[in-house]
Amino acid sequence: MHPTPATCSSRMSSGFLRRASSAATLGVLLVSLTISPCARAGDQPSAAATESSAFDWSTVDSQPEQAAHILRQLRAWRKPDRKRHGKTLRVVYFHPQDRQPLKNHGERWDRIMADVQKFHRDEMNRFGYQDVTLSLEQTNGRLKLHEVQGAANDDGSYSYRSGSRIYGEVVKALAKSGIDANTETLLIVCGLSRTEDKQVTIYSPYYGMGADHNKGICFVADSDWLTIDGLKPDRKGITLQVKEHRGYEPFTLARFNTTYIGGTIHELGHGLSLPHNHATKLEAKRGTALMGAGNYTYRQEWRQEGKGSFLTQAHAIRLLVHPVFSGTSQQCNQPPNLQLRALRVSFHEDQIHIRGELQADIPSIAMIAYNDRENPGQQGYQVNNDYDATTWPSVISPQHEFWIRVGDLQDGKHQLRLVSVHANGAVTTHRLHYTSKDGVPDFDHTNKDIAKITTP
Ligand SMILES: [Zn+2]
Repeated sequence: MHPTPATCSSRMSSGFLRRASSAATLGVLLVSLTISPCARAGDQPSAAATESSAFDWSTVDSQPEQAAHILRQLRAWRKPDRKRHGKTLRVVYFHPQDRQPLKNHGERWDRIMADVQKFHRDEMNRFGYQDVTLSLEQTNGRLKLHEVQGAANDDGSYSYRSGSRIYGEVVKALAKSGIDANTETLLIVCGLSRTEDKQVTIYSPYYGMGADHNKGICFVADSDWLTIDGLKPDRKGITLQVKEHRGYEPFTLARFNTTYIGGTIHELGHGLSLPHNHATKLEAKRGTALMGAGNYTYRQEWRQEGKGSFLTQAHAIRLLVHPVFSGTSQQCNQPPNLQLRALRVSFHEDQIHIRGELQADIPSIAMIAYNDRENPGQQGYQVNNDYDATTWPSVISPQHEFWIRVGDLQDGKHQLRLVSVHANGAVTTHRLHYTSKDGVPDFDHTNKDIAKITTP
């Protein structure tokens, strides 16, 4: 349904990161996520909207007000008398036929995934989504790992290119346990590394893809040195030599754990259908966006090395309704059948305003704009060209309207992806394009796009 799955290979992305950070240093405008009263006064709503709407947008100025608004809509839609059952993330541990899982893998991954769960709970709480987090399977008080022994030996049969092969073997093994991988989100931890003292060689697939809110896959690597304690200050001053795609490179133990545990949570984000995004100027005060370069900053705050990684408001909203977070799979297979009406764009006080009305079979709880600039040498958008996309959410009024304000504008060609987030976790994406020059956007192309995607 979504032509471009959220995917990346974080280990090979240093070039993209350089590009993203250089884009971030370009002159950008500092704007607030909240709606300023003077901005509203200058933007005239259309006659149609005035007639049909008495919604007071000043009641959702702040992020906490937006969260309360979204939660009220979700409560109204969710059926309390219906048997509610959400989904859990399936964590798989894959190892070649002739090798055991790596040392202490059960205990280490129990603690790693508990920390990943805590990161999400803390971030969701910060946005006002109390105690919403990633749902994990437990067995005997510990993380359940679905252990899968590969069909081949560790003789070169498995490499970082073996994602499809490993996935096929995992699907077969899960089917024997009655689990249909086609309706699951899987985190596949691969015991595909070798450690000789402080020398580590990694040859595991390392990427995440979410087909939709019902199916996702991510591959990450295990290593003997991967532990939650390894994220903390290292009094012994251990330096590892790590080889993945290039030659051996020195990594402090802390940087190694930040990179590979941060890589795990970033790829899991892709498995949960999150694409890349970049912190806005305002959001950047909190650190690095998890789905930007947040895999390289995870838990740096534990070592006073930086602010660490955080979840953006847009992605908190998307996770809030994902069946692995929401505690319900109500109508999760029903297509939302979104229609857009009265879509219009305008430029006012250094912000692009996107307003419109929508209709859907599954209620939309938010409309998010991903503002993605085409970088020099870039061809097309998304895949690994979307690290620089900033995200701008709007709640949906009781009259089914949205009003997005996009700030931090830059000159150049842009794609605006409008992502409607539905109460069952589904998303619907539409694309608009504009070019900005000398700080003023030209909406000629945008209006042609609007004519194609809207229903009269
Ligand atoms: Zn990525």
